[in-house]
Order: sequence, then structure tokens, then C-alpha cells
Amino acid sequence: MQSRSLVGKTALVTGSTSGIGLGIARSLAAEGANICLNGFGDLQEIAALRAAIEEEFQVKTIYSNADMTQASQITEMMTQAQNEFGGVDILVNNAGIQHVAAIEDFPVEKWDAIIAINLSSAFHTTRLALPSMRTKNWGRIINVASVHGLVASAQKSAYVAAKHGLVGFTKTTALETADSAITCNAICPGFVLTPLVQKQVDARAERDNISNEEAKKSLLSEKQPSGEFVTPEQLGALAVFSAVMQQHRFVVLLGIWMVVGSRNKDLRIA
Ligand code: NAD
Repeated sequence: MQSRSLVGKTALVTGSTSGIGLGIARSLAAEGANICLNGFGDLQEIAALRAAIEEEFQVKTIYSNADMTQASQITEMMTQAQNEFGGVDILVNNAGIQHVAAIEDFPVEKWDAIIAINLSSAFHTTRLALPSMRTKNWGRIINVASVHGLVASAQKSAYVAAKHGLVGFTKTTALETADSAITCNAICPGFVLTPLVQKQVDARAERDNISNEEAKKSLLSEKQPSGEFVTPEQLGALAVFSAVMQQHRFVVLLGIWMVVGSRNKDLRIA
């Protein structure tokens, strides 16, 4: 536990009760950061997640069930973090959902929810985190975008629009904090096998009448040259890198290295 790089820092990870967010929260805790978890799920399971993080990494955790579609609940979550830990030093905007449908069939309420959770919530958390970061003259903002922040896929209009928006928001945040020790980066992963992607695997297996394993291979073969899923642990390592690096600002950590190089442990920055 010695020489951990984030001891004394507090990290808030939205959507961290599952998947990538949980992987990132665990990686930041492993470096000594106290953790504010957020997301939905079974309360007993979330309590067990917190206890496991606290015991394994000897850090403190809190939990907020704030709904990322509700600006007032986001304010309450940020106030809770301020009261408990004196502010958020590392903000990871990760909460996200997906819906797959053609534009003319896309349910309006799904569009609104995806834009609110995947994009607008990052605006709210960032605007509320920045004053304390500016006071401390230190902060790290990490936006979990997607390869869909850089390229498009059919049937994913809201997700692609939100993630392109999040990459744009990352650049503006980086510009507005460029004269300080606050950095803002986006991570743009390819496919990670989390509940969000498992739904797409299940739908493909049913549509094509193939097994789950075949559906995974077919999904990956369309978009991910490595033929392998990215892991939450790899993304956690990238988040830690982004949190500890001192100089780089206005850097988008391209998902391309995740997609092309997921067998390669090197971190490449483009
Ligand atoms: P996941 O479904 O495993 O986790 C999503 C998390 O967000 C959960 O903790 C869930 O409770 C939370 N959440 C959902 N709606 C919420 C709301 N309204 N308010 C608060 N929390 C809410 O998904 P994941 O795959 O880990 O995705 C995490 C992020 O990574 C998303 O932004 C997603 O777009 C992005 N991403 C995922 C992949 C992938 O292949 N899985 C690839 C690129 C980017």
C-alpha cells in the first residue's frame, strides 16, 4: 500500500455500481483515493461493493443514488461529496445507457434519457466540481466517452450524438482549465463486455438464432480488429494514468489503442 499516487484525493465516479465505472472506481481506490460511488442497483449489493473496496484498499467510500437525468439530484450528490470529503478532486463522468433503433423508430423518451445521462450529467457534475478544484488548483476530470465519440454506427443515433458531444465538452473543459493544474481528458473505449453490451449480444443471438459466444464474436468482428473485448481493468489503468499525469491537457485518449491494441499493455496517447 506504500507509494500510492492518489492518497488524500477523492474520486467521484458516476455510474460506478457496475461495469466500467466500478472497474475505474476500484483502480482509483487501489491508488489510495477515497471513492464516491453512484448508480443504481440492489442496496445490499452496493453496500457489499463499498465494504469490499474499503477493506481491500483501506480507503473511505460513500454512495449516492442520484439519478443522472435529474440536475437537482446531481447537485445533492456533489454537496454530499463536498460535506463528506471537502470536494471532488477526480471526477469521472461515466454513467451511460444505450438504446438501439433506427432514427424514425427511436423512442423520444429514450433519446432524452441518453442525452441527459450520457452528456448533460457531465456538464452538471463538472460545473459543480470546478469551483473546489479551482480553489485547490488541482483537479482531474475524466469523461468516459466511447469509440462512438469519434465514429458512428447505424441504429445508435442518440448514443453517437451524446458521445460526440461529450468529446466536444471535454475539449472545452480542457481549454477553460488550461491555465491551471486541472486537466480534462476523454477515454474512448471500444466494446467492453458489461451489462450494456451484453444486451446487444443477447439481441444479436436471438435475431440471428446463434449462441451467445457466436454473437459475441460476430459483434466484435464488425468493429473491433483485436477480436477481444476491452476490460474494465484496462480502462481503470488508463483512468489512473490520466489522474496522475501532471502536464497533458487537451488530450483525447483515443479508443483506437483500445480497439487495435487491446492485446498490448502499452498506453498510447494520440
Ligand atoms: P453498465 O450498464 O455496466 O453500467 C452503467 C452504470 O450507469 C451503472 O452503474 C448504472 O447503475 C448507472 N446508471 C444508469 N443510468 C443511470 C442514471 N440515470 N443515473 C445514475 N446512474 C445510472 O455500462 P458500462 O458498459 O459499464 O458503461 C459505462 C460507460 O462506458 C457508459 O458511459 C458507456 O457509454 C461507456 N462505454 C461502454 C462501452 C462498452 O462496450 N460497454 C464502450 C464504450 C463506452
